[in-house]
Amino acid sequence: MTVMLPPPKLFIAGDWRAASDGRSIDVVNPSDGEKFTTIARGLAADVDTAVKAARAAAEGAWGRMPAVERGRLLLKLARAVQDNHETIARLESIDTGKPLKQGRGDATALARYFEYYGGAADKLHGDTIPFMDGYTVMTFWEPHGVTGHIIPWNYPSQIFGRSVGASLAVGNACVVKPAEDACLAILKITELAAEVGFPPGALNVVTGYGEEAGAALSSHPGIDHISFTGSPETGALVQIAAAKNNKPVTMELGGKSPQLVFADADLDAALPFLVNAIIQNAGQTCSAGSRLLVEKPVYDRVLDAVGTRFKSLRVGASDMDLDVGPVINKQQQTRVHGFLERAGKDGLKPAAQGAMAPNTPKGGYYVLPTLMGDVPASHELAQQEVFGPVLAATPFKDEAEALAIANGTAYGLVASVWTRDGGRQLRLARAIQAGQVFVNNYGAAGGIELPFGGYKRSGFGREKGFEGLYAFAALKTVAIRHG
Ligand code: NAD
Repeated sequence: MTVMLPPPKLFIAGDWRAASDGRSIDVVNPSDGEKFTTIARGLAADVDTAVKAARAAAEGAWGRMPAVERGRLLLKLARAVQDNHETIARLESIDTGKPLKQGRGDATALARYFEYYGGAADKLHGDTIPFMDGYTVMTFWEPHGVTGHIIPWNYPSQIFGRSVGASLAVGNACVVKPAEDACLAILKITELAAEVGFPPGALNVVTGYGEEAGAALSSHPGIDHISFTGSPETGALVQIAAAKNNKPVTMELGGKSPQLVFADADLDAALPFLVNAIIQNAGQTCSAGSRLLVEKPVYDRVLDAVGTRFKSLRVGASDMDLDVGPVINKQQQTRVHGFLERAGKDGLKPAAQGAMAPNTPKGGYYVLPTLMGDVPASHELAQQEVFGPVLAATPFKDEAEALAIANGTAYGLVASVWTRDGGRQLRLARAIQAGQVFVNNYGAAGGIELPFGGYKRSGFGREKGFEGLYAFAALKTVAIRHG
């Protein structure tokens, strides 16, 4: 199937337009390192135009639209995504390098976000509060007005769905800055949103570099809330920029998530999860299970079984649709290889590695999936977000040590616990510092209904689920004294 590429333009006030100075950015296929299209390089002036268009929409037809109608538009968009499922999947796959089956999974999740938030649009309501005699007190959840959305390259369409979908459902007008490395699926979704009838200015997309369009968006005084998903370092820059205007932010940042395996676990059931949690999207997942913590009596057995799976993993181009695709760009490939080289110098050895598939194109940014055994809990491989297909295994002696290691990083995004002991399941679920804890599974199949977000350096604020609506809404209290 040949995919029609979306317009290489900005989408502002219902129109496709070139960047204000006409420049563009090359788009490279991570599977072969070749340029195949361009996107527009939006600048501060374009962000400013987009924010003004969003403000006009928020104060105009879009702002006055009843919640049920907003919901219907999102449901139409969900249907349009389903009708264009293969196109979105292929755009996401060629742009990010992820195997096509993962691109298809992302397109399915995207439609589901619009469906979920379409259904939720008319269900966000306030309360009445018992108060003093002679008063009636009520609360309203209101849109902020204009929300900014800064999106990373690893799951562009899913993250667009969860943040922009929720914000539109609440009634905000949105200005979106996708990552310069992966915009195509988002531009296609934007095309569909225009087709199904979102009014001009309700959704604006400014592609461009982070230091240009991204920085302009986070420092713009006309933005009422910023949803940022990306690295903790960039997140801090966005927080500082937003703080200068006293604007609220939601931070969805990185992770170093542990998978805890106890000797009493159903190891056969655990095995596919233990591997998939790290190799999905070539390890470039905020919630990747990048640490494997195993109780000593079963450590060798688990390492052996996980290692056998790692050896069977095949790496290749996104359209070869294998287990693992390339990482996003040369810089990321060099970064991940740097972690492995330093680990080697520190005396750590790969317990197992996958292999390149025959006929994989030259020039792609490939990293072999690697299982590292006996990684000290203090080593950088067990502490820092590698953002590649590298699993660091560490043995533990008992529950207390497992918990200390699990909580012993700067991050706290997700965790999994594999045990049949009900008491231990609950103790650890409560004691682990993470926004999501999974017991005897990993990720609950992506569950878009489940609130998601970080503890510690993994961020703050929650997206996904019904909870995800509240970040995009302000609570107003009205107290009427009527005697
Ligand atoms: P990144 O921080 O480099 O970039 C994220 C976005 O910020 C991009 O759109 C980029 O253009 C923009 N940006 C860059 N500099 C900016 C600046 N100065 N001002 C404003 N915006 C700027 O992150 P990335 O490399 O694209 O993504 C990987 C990171 O994202 C990882 O740390 C990963 O864990 C995290 N992530 C978190 C979640 C989550 O939900 N918690 C989901 C996906 C990815």
